[in-house]
Amino acid sequence: MTRHGHSTSTPGTVYLVGAGPGDPGLLTRHGADALARADVVVYDRLADDSMLSLAPADAELVYVGKQAAVHAVPQPRINQLLSTHAEQGKCVVRLKGGDPFVFGRGGEEATHLRERGIPCVVVPGVTSAVAAPAYAGIPVTDRRHASSFAVITGHEDPTRQTSRIDWHGVAHGADTLVFLMGLTNLASICSRLIDEGRPATAAAAVIERGTTPGQRVVTGTLADLAGRVAEAGLHPPALIVVGDVVQLRRQLAWHDSQPLAGRRILVPRVRRRPSEIVRLLKAAGAEVAEVPVLRSETLPVTGDLRGRLDAADWLVFTSPGALEALLEQLGTLGSDIRALGAGRIAAAGPATAAQLRRCGLRVDYAPETATGFADGFPASSHATALLIGEEVGERRMLRDLAVAGLCCSELPVSRLTVDDRAPLPPIEQFDAIALASSNTARRLIEAYPDGPTDAQVVVSIGPMTSRTAGRLGLRVDAEAAGASPAAVVRTLVERLETRLPGD
Ligand code: SAH
Repeated sequence: MTRHGHSTSTPGTVYLVGAGPGDPGLLTRHGADALARADVVVYDRLADDSMLSLAPADAELVYVGKQAAVHAVPQPRINQLLSTHAEQGKCVVRLKGGDPFVFGRGGEEATHLRERGIPCVVVPGVTSAVAAPAYAGIPVTDRRHASSFAVITGHEDPTRQTSRIDWHGVAHGADTLVFLMGLTNLASICSRLIDEGRPATAAAAVIERGTTPGQRVVTGTLADLAGRVAEAGLHPPALIVVGDVVQLRRQLAWHDSQPLAGRRILVPRVRRRPSEIVRLLKAAGAEVAEVPVLRSETLPVTGDLRGRLDAADWLVFTSPGALEALLEQLGTLGSDIRALGAGRIAAAGPATAAQLRRCGLRVDYAPETATGFADGFPASSHATALLIGEEVGERRMLRDLAVAGLCCSELPVSRLTVDDRAPLPPIEQFDAIALASSNTARRLIEAYPDGPTDAQVVVSIGPMTSRTAGRLGLRVDAEAAGASPAAVVRTLVERLETRLPGD
């Protein structure tokens, strides 16, 4: 039996899912749902594989994309992998870059499955052909410049005599032309288009790693684009756009002109919940890696769980996952949400409050941020509060509530552990490291015992963090003025402004 209780005589469903072009936010909700249900994920090289963590922890992940210099797994073998897993009753997600039916061989896979009577669901994705130009500030159509666009494979060398592509038709068939897989043939594609009658002065661009924080764009004309691209040293994945719409980029560029565009920043993490610094860094265009990747595990029940819940005046949930872990613990006792009793309910922040409300609970107190949580707490002194959350939880909140006169105790329901399946990226690939607290400085040294190299700018949020870093032998290059996440990001922008990306 599998996760879904399929018996092995009924085949599981294969979901052909488009992962989108790179930015993980462009995965569709159908795609995310399919991943969350997967027993097996068969995936290609993706610009960002963080979405694999949407699959359950015990799902099997099978990589079938190209390795550097090694050929991809042959298509018949991929087809067979999909059908074999499905025939064992498993729920299979076949995850492909962009849209599965745009040069993704998704059609062949679907045909193979159909022939074997295996149910197959197609979840379209955001194709790079439209999204990479959009992130480069190039609309593929525009009333002023283009009323049609075509997407063409650039894989075939146009100088070959026996081309399957009607180059004359391509050159004249649409206002905007988008070539995928065409970087190696860029020079011959441009000259073939000129030979077929497109003006040599026509605007054209190459977009590398479109929609990712590492997006690079080179613009030019059909006559000079290949030279410019060679000079800039662009690599796949990249696509070519030809047409007047390319000129709009001068006005409309947005993604690659953000203050931290092209910067890679390492943020050591101690909590599972996303940090404010990470949100702000991404909003400024940076590529952020939070390491190590953490997973939350529910702890076994200890002591008189129901008695403690019953006795508390306040149940304070300190993390979004706390309720789920508590319910899991209650389940092992043959109990459920009714064991929460008559205590009032508080949430440490808006995300936690939202999670509680989703489960149908009324939240009596939920401040906008966890700092200042105790100041506004509506309880009279000597009330009892149970802090429900992670094992090494909210020490400061516990102290502040005690100072405010409450009788507090902790009820740890989960533990964060390092997810060993996600390998640590080499530290050399980062431009900067942001230290948001003393604990994150400790996490950095645990993860990278040799510390940063001279190439990374290390920014700390404030004096306490800098002191801890110093004690750990970590060099700090700058301290944020103001000790806030926004100040850390400002400091990073200032520090990195004067350097060229990749320096
Ligand atoms: N199914 C995919 C395309 C697969 S073919 C889709 O719908 O996007 C692979 C080609 O897509 C690459 O050679 C490149 O030309 C293009 N491509 C994919 N992701 C890209 C990206 N992030 N930026 C630029 N081009 C990309």
